[in-house]
Amino acid sequence: AMMKDLQKKYEELVDLDKAHFLHPTSSIKQHQENGPAFIFTEGEGIYLKDIQGNKLIDSLSSLWNVNIGHGRKELGEVAAEQMGKLGFASTFATWSHEPVIRLAQKVAEMTPGDLNTTFFTSGGSEANDTAFKTVRHYWKLKGQPEKKKIVSRKKSYHGVAMGSTSATGLKPFHDFTTSIAPDFHHVDSSADALRAFIDEEGAETIAAFITEPVQGSGGVNLPPDGYFQEVQQICKENNIIFIMDEVITGFGRTGKTFGSDHFNIVPDIMCIAKGITSGYAPLGGMVLTERLYKELIDLSGDGMFMHGYTYSGHPVSCAVALKNIEIIEREGLVEHVREMGEELLRGFEMLKQEHDSVKDYRGLGLLGAVGLDAGTEEPIAPKVVSECFKRGMIGRAVVYDGQDTLAFAPPFVITKEQVQEMIDIVHESLVAVE
Ligand code: PLP
Repeated sequence: AMMKDLQKKYEELVDLDKAHFLHPTSSIKQHQENGPAFIFTEGEGIYLKDIQGNKLIDSLSSLWNVNIGHGRKELGEVAAEQMGKLGFASTFATWSHEPVIRLAQKVAEMTPGDLNTTFFTSGGSEANDTAFKTVRHYWKLKGQPEKKKIVSRKKSYHGVAMGSTSATGLKPFHDFTTSIAPDFHHVDSSADALRAFIDEEGAETIAAFITEPVQGSGGVNLPPDGYFQEVQQICKENNIIFIMDEVITGFGRTGKTFGSDHFNIVPDIMCIAKGITSGYAPLGGMVLTERLYKELIDLSGDGMFMHGYTYSGHPVSCAVALKNIEIIEREGLVEHVREMGEELLRGFEMLKQEHDSVKDYRGLGLLGAVGLDAGTEEPIAPKVVSECFKRGMIGRAVVYDGQDTLAFAPPFVITKEQVQEMIDIVHESLVAVE
């Protein structure tokens, strides 16, 4: 009878999902045919469970964000405590509260150099849009309103708000709507390409350059050697504000606290989200250097900073973020990410040895990818991912721009044995597809 009730509930939920829930970034017609693949019910560590009783490895930490792993009761407790005390309060104008103040201080302590002041948002898209508006505001205050172009890299992903969609360098996101915002441009990932763009357009028309330390959604692409040092120099010489989008890479994902730390880069602005709460509550932010913030203060006079979201500095999200960061520090997870990152690369090397269809691999900490080439017209990564599902792992295929890539970003708490389990599943899935 139990089983029957559960089956009935499952079928009911599938029907309701199809009727009433438009899924983000989804194939909506296919969804009507197939319904939801998983209806998740709970999670623990690197595993998710669904309503049909399947236990699945979450090899991408859901959306590169559940960094400390699923089922952390401590975060639930801190959220409940904060909600019971002060579930919401505005931070507009001069209002404040302790969780947002403590978190802003903690972010200042963790971020490199003099990145010391944070504006909070609900996520990464809003963080990037905030940065784009802020740099334009800054140049306007400096008497250069025509210095407004935002330059980003091809294959970048910066989110789906109007500005962040426009900065994203992946065509399918542009094609979804009629046109991207004006004054957004995409360049190839070389210092020469940026130089050529500046020469052509004029530095006096360019407000900022934005990049991820490691491109995530675009296929886990590591930067060319020396690229960031050179790009930062070019930006300095041309008075172009350098924005690092650390939405995926922030808070330990790459085996250092921030991706920027690998390249000894202190950007003028850093955007953060995802890993700041490990996904337990929505939160993002734009972090400014002291130099930029002081200048903004001086330039503003009696003018307003006319930008703010209702949920900027949400007290529950901030309390959750503080506890999440405490756990990362207490459990030495960034160090662990470095070690497990090496295990992951060893696993990728094994896959390469055993499969002709594995062309290459790359990784930094627990952010990695395997490049496939089976000599077929169609990419095989989606088929490999389907085979992974059958074997108890949720995988991620990247097929933008003719790529055929498997991306990995498991929770920081993954063990050596679990890395091997993941690799074994990918191995078996490749065998099934080949
Ligand atoms: N920037 C990067 C590098 C991302 O990977 C993402 C999300 O995947 C975003 C921005 C957008 O963040 P959000 O989905 O929280 O708006």
